[in-house]
Amino acid sequence: MLVRMPLTEQPFGFDNSYARLPPRFFACQAPTPVSDPTLIKLNEALAHDLGLDPQTLFSRGADYFSGNVLPSGSEPIAMAYAGHQFGQFVPRLGDGRAVLLGEVIDCFGARRDIQLKGAGRTPFSRSGDGRAALGPVLREYIVSEAMTALGIPSTRALAVVATGEAVVRETLLPGAILTRVAASHIRIGTFQYFASRGDEEAVRRLADYVLARHYPGAAETTNPYRALLEGVAVRQATLIARWLLVGFIHGVMNTDNMAISGETIDYGPCAFLDRYDPAKAFSAIDRQGRYAYGMQPRMAQWNLARFAETLLPLLATGTQDAVTIAQDALGGFTVAFEAAYEEGLNAKLGLCQRREGDRALAQDLLARMAANGADFTLTFRGLSDDIEELRSVRTLFADPAAFDEWSLRWRLRLAEEDRDVETTAAAMRAANPIFIPRNHRVEEVIAAALNRDFKPFEILTAVLSHPFEAQPGFAHYADAPQPEQVVEQTFCGT
Ligand code: AMP
Ligand code: MG
Repeated sequence: MLVRMPLTEQPFGFDNSYARLPPRFFACQAPTPVSDPTLIKLNEALAHDLGLDPQTLFSRGADYFSGNVLPSGSEPIAMAYAGHQFGQFVPRLGDGRAVLLGEVIDCFGARRDIQLKGAGRTPFSRSGDGRAALGPVLREYIVSEAMTALGIPSTRALAVVATGEAVVRETLLPGAILTRVAASHIRIGTFQYFASRGDEEAVRRLADYVLARHYPGAAETTNPYRALLEGVAVRQATLIARWLLVGFIHGVMNTDNMAISGETIDYGPCAFLDRYDPAKAFSAIDRQGRYAYGMQPRMAQWNLARFAETLLPLLATGTQDAVTIAQDALGGFTVAFEAAYEEGLNAKLGLCQRREGDRALAQDLLARMAANGADFTLTFRGLSDDIEELRSVRTLFADPAAFDEWSLRWRLRLAEEDRDVETTAAAMRAANPIFIPRNHRVEEVIAAALNRDFKPFEILTAVLSHPFEAQPGFAHYADAPQPEQVVEQTFCGT
C-alpha cells in the first residue's frame, strides 16, 4: 500500500514546476509499492548538495526511494515523450518505468529533478513491466557517478533500493530502483512528442519552459528559439567531445535519450573503450554500429536536426526563413565540437599553447593507437606518469616503434612550450584519468551484487570518485582487462 506523508514532514522541500505545465505534458502516476525494500546505497555527498538530510534519508530511504512512501510535496508524474529509436520514429514513448517525484532547489540554487527509475507501470509502459533489474541499476549508478567525477555533465545517482521482488527478463533477476537526479528529464524526444502531433502551442510552452530553466541567457536575445537551438547544439557538442576524450560510448543515442540540458542521460549498454578503436560499439542491439564511438558526433548532429525540425514554426513565419535560421544555428555544433575536442586533446598531450599541427599530431597518435591495439586510458595517462622515459607506454603498442616515432615528434613539440617538464606532467595528470569504469570491473561488481555481496560495488564507486589521483592499494583498478576478462558486448537489460 502506498503511504502518503503528513504535510508536517517535508524531507525534500519539493518545488514542482513541470507538474504545472498543461496536463498533456505528463500522466499523474504514483510509484507502485514494492514488497520488501532495502536501501543498498545512499549517495551522501549528493544528498548534501541537494540540501537533504542524510540521516533522515538513511533511516527513511528504503521507504522513500522504493516509492512505498510518497514524501509530502511530491506530485508524482510520468513525462510524455517520443523519439527516434535507431532512426525509426516512435510517436509515443514516455516514462514507462520512471516516476518524477518532484523538483528541489539544490544548495547552489539549481533546480534538480528527483526521479525513481523502475518505480512500476505507467500509462507509457506499453508491454513493459515498469521495473528495473539490479544489474543495470548498479551500472547506471557506477557510470553516472564516474562521469561526474571525470567532470562530464551527467545525471546523478542518489540512491539504490532493492525491491525484494524479482523481475522477469531472460531469467528471473532481483529488482531494484535507482533514484536519479537530473538538471531536468526533458529530451529532444519531448519536443518531438508535441511537434509530431502538430501541437505547436505545446512546443512553444515547452520551449519557453526550457529557456527559463536551462537557457536564461537565450531568453534575452532577439530570437530566443534560435538561441535555444544553438545553445542546445553547443552543449551537446561539448558533451560529445568530452565523451570522446575519455573513451566513453553511450550506446543508445536515440533522440529520447538526449537531454536538452546537455547532461549525459540514460545509461544503458554504455561502455568505455579499453583498446582504442573508433569503430567500436559494445551494445548488443547496435548491430550496425550506428552509435559506435567515432560515430557519436555525427549522430548528435542527426539528433539535433530532428530537434531543429520541431522548432521550425517558432523560428520564423516562413518555412524557408525558418530552415535558414535553423541551419545557421546548427552550424554552432561543429565549431563548438572542434574547439572542445582540440582543446581537450591538447590538454591530454600537455600542450597549453595552440599551434598549427597540434591536431594532426594528436590524430597521428590516435591512428597509431588504433593500429596497435593500445589501451586508450593507459596510453594517455602513461604519457604523463613517465614523461621522461615513456617506457610503460611504448609496451602498450603492438609495435612499440610506432609509438617511438610519434613520441619523438611529441617531444619536439613539447619543447616549444614555456613550461618545465614537471609542470607539464602535473597538468597532464589533471586531464588524463587513471581510473575509468572498466567494463570488466563493472561486470565483476554486478556479479558479486547478484550474490548479495555489495563490497566490490562500494570499493569501485569509491575508487572512481577520484579518477585522477593515484590510490595506493587500488592501482589494479587501472589495469586493462586480461584477454579472458575482455567484455565484448553490453546489454541494456531493460
Ligand atoms: P530506454 O531503452 O531505457 O531508453 O527506454 C526506451 C523506452 O522504453 C522508454 O519509453 C522507457 O520508458 C521504456 N521502457 C524501458 N524499459 C521498460 C520497462 N521495463 N517497462 C516499461 N517501459 C520500459
Ligand atoms: Mg531512455
